[in-house]
Amino acid sequence: GSLPGWDRVEEHVRAAHERYRGNDDGAVADYIPVLAEADRSLFGVCVAESGGAVHAVGDADVEFSVQSISKAFVYALVCEAYGHEDVLERVGVDSTGLAFNSVMAVELHDGHPRNPMVNAGALATTALVPGASFAEKWENVRTGLSRFAGRSLELDGVVYRSESATNMRNKAIARLLESYGRIEVDPLEVVDVYTKQCALRVSARDLAVMGATLADGGVNPVTGERVVSAQVCRDTLAVLASTGMYERSGEWLFEIGLPAKSGVAGGIVAVAPGKGAIGTYSPPLDPAGNSVRGQRATAYLSRTLGLNLFASS
Ligand code: GLN
Repeated sequence: GSLPGWDRVEEHVRAAHERYRGNDDGAVADYIPVLAEADRSLFGVCVAESGGAVHAVGDADVEFSVQSISKAFVYALVCEAYGHEDVLERVGVDSTGLAFNSVMAVELHDGHPRNPMVNAGALATTALVPGASFAEKWENVRTGLSRFAGRSLELDGVVYRSESATNMRNKAIARLLESYGRIEVDPLEVVDVYTKQCALRVSARDLAVMGATLADGGVNPVTGERVVSAQVCRDTLAVLASTGMYERSGEWLFEIGLPAKSGVAGGIVAVAPGKGAIGTYSPPLDPAGNSVRGQRATAYLSRTLGLNLFASS
């Protein structure tokens, strides 16, 4: 099936925003100091259809740092550059059952990162980004994610500096990977590119368009540009389904039935293959690090728009 008509989708996106705007559960992330200053009342919901129509409600154009959601799109770019087999050999696709920044998850498997959506696997993935220098790798990440969004994404210098000053744990994970021979370039430079990629500014509207590009076999439905292959989209969405929502990934798939990725600044992108994507933004998070209002709004839209992949009708 396809999405209901334009008016129906618009109505459901408005209803999703209206229903959950009053929810005040969850806590804003504070382990990156500047994120603690986020306005917890912000709430944006956006659906981008694979035909290119976009429905945006509330604070859908407010910018925030993409954080872990970048992992999904950098993974897609690296799969596009190296192919399924080579990437699989370096970074697995199974969930860890542990927090996204777990060091134990690395230790348990001889330094083989279990998946690209936890920090260890994301660092190993960023290490693979093509580029002769780290400046070039960073530019490839920035322009690659910009092609998914259909506009030039920029670094949030305040978020980048705040995280750079406090990311000892990611530096430790990168050094640990180096000790296992899993990172072949300078690990601290890799952490720097990773910290920058997490500090790219996006809106809920950008997330919806980025997700819709994955839904659309790699073609951005707004700009018409091919960003990655259909095979890469399939690989990326499979990884998101099993690992995109941290240790809540199984529960998310059970309730909502869509591959998705969240970030600690409060963004979520959920992808309905062949149909489109939902982008949400709301800073308060549940204990796993997933936006509370974003999860509720996405669940509502999955239900009302008939997006659950496992539903036969
Ligand atoms: N930059 C953050 C970190 O590495 C991203 C984490 C997240 O969004 N879960 O800790």
